[in-house]
Amino acid sequence: MGFFSKNTQKSPFSLEALEDCTEKKDAYLLALLTLLQYLKAFSFDLNEIDADLFKARLDTLAALFENESNIKKLEYRFETDKNEIAAFIEREKEYFSNKDAEFKDIIKVLSSGIAIVNSENQRFNTLIHEETLKLEQITQLDDIRKIKEELTEKITNVKTFIQEKQAQDAQHIEKLSNKVETLKTALQETANAALTDGLTGAFNRLAFDTEIANRVTKNKRAFSLIMFDIDNFKLINDAYGHQIGDRVLVALVQKCKRLIREGDFLARYGGEEFIIIFPGTSLKDTLKKAKQLCATIADTEYAVDESEGSKPLSFTISIGVSTRRRNDSVTSLIDRADKALYKAKHLGKNRVVSEKEID
Ligand code: GH3
Ligand code: MG
Ligand code: MG
Repeated sequence: MGFFSKNTQKSPFSLEALEDCTEKKDAYLLALLTLLQYLKAFSFDLNEIDADLFKARLDTLAALFENESNIKKLEYRFETDKNEIAAFIEREKEYFSNKDAEFKDIIKVLSSGIAIVNSENQRFNTLIHEETLKLEQITQLDDIRKIKEELTEKITNVKTFIQEKQAQDAQHIEKLSNKVETLKTALQETANAALTDGLTGAFNRLAFDTEIANRVTKNKRAFSLIMFDIDNFKLINDAYGHQIGDRVLVALVQKCKRLIREGDFLARYGGEEFIIIFPGTSLKDTLKKAKQLCATIADTEYAVDESEGSKPLSFTISIGVSTRRRNDSVTSLIDRADKALYKAKHLGKNRVVSEKEID
C-alpha cells in the first residue's frame, strides 16, 4: 500500500504526527512525503503533458521513501526524480502559457473577424458589438474549461449572425443585379432604337453612316454593297394609299432579311431607298445575290385586302452594285452604286446594274 492511498482526510503532516516521530529521519520522511502529496494534488490532470505518468512516478517515489532503508539508493533515485519533477513543472508552465497565448489569439481573430463583417445594418452592428464585449469578458475568466465553453457558445452566436448577414447580403446583391440587368437592357434598347429605323426595323441612316465610315477607313477587309429603290413607288402610294405604302416598305425589309446572311448589314438609306453591305463578298457574288433578290421581290405578291376578287399587290426594285476599291472614300463608293442604280432605272427598272456598266 502506497502512502497516497492512505486516508487523505487527515493530512499525514501534523504536529501530532511530528511529535510521534522519535527520530529525525522519520520527521524528514514525513515532511518529504507530505511535499510529494501536495505536488500530486497541485498538478493538473492534463493528458497533453502526461500528468498520469507523472503522478504514478510520484506514487512510486513515495513508496520507495517509505520502504527503502538504503540511503544511498534513495539519494540516487531522488536525484533523477528531482529533475523529472522540475521538468514536469516546466511543461505545465509552458502548457498554460501556450494555451493562454492560443486563447488570446482566438479572441483576437474573432474580434477582428467581427469587425470585418461590414454592416451598414444597425441590428448587426449592435449584436456584434455585444458579442465583442462578451468576448473581452471571457479573457478575464481564470477557469480554462469555462473559457472553452463560453468561447464555443460565442463562436456559434457569431457564426449565426454572419450567416444571417450573408443571406441578407445575397438578397441585396440579387436585387441590385436584377436592377442592373434591367438598366442594361433599357440602355441597350435605347442604343438600338437610336440606330434603328422606326418603321421597317432596318438600320437607319445614322447607323449606316457610322458602319460604312468604319469599313472604309478602319477595316481593310473587302466588301461590296447594293443600293436599291422601289420602282414607281409613288404609284403604289397613289393607288393604295400611304399606309399600304408603309406596309410595302416593311414587307420589303422582312423579305430582304430572310434572303441575306447574319453578318450582312441592311439599312434604310432614305425614303424607299435601301443599302445592303455584304462583308467579304466579291462584286461577282454580290451581283448574283442582287439578281436573286430582284427576282424574288418581283415574284412576290401581297394580299392588300381579304375581299374576293381583289388584286394582289406586287412591286419591283432596281439595284445598283459597287465593290470597295483600294482608294475609295465613302462618297466615291456610294456614288458608283448610285450611278448604277440610276442606270438600272434608266434601262427600264426591275434590274441589276454593276458599277462596271457605268460611264
Ligand atoms: P422610281 O421608280 O423612279 O423610283 O419612281 P418612284 O415613284 O419610286 O419615285 P421616287 O423614288 O422619286 O418616289 C419616292 C416616293 O416614296 C415619294 C415618297 O412619297 C415615297 N415615300 C418615301 N418615304 C415613304 C414612306 O415612309 N412611306 C410611304 N408610304 N411612302 C414614302
Ligand atoms: Mg422609287
Ligand atoms: Mg427613291
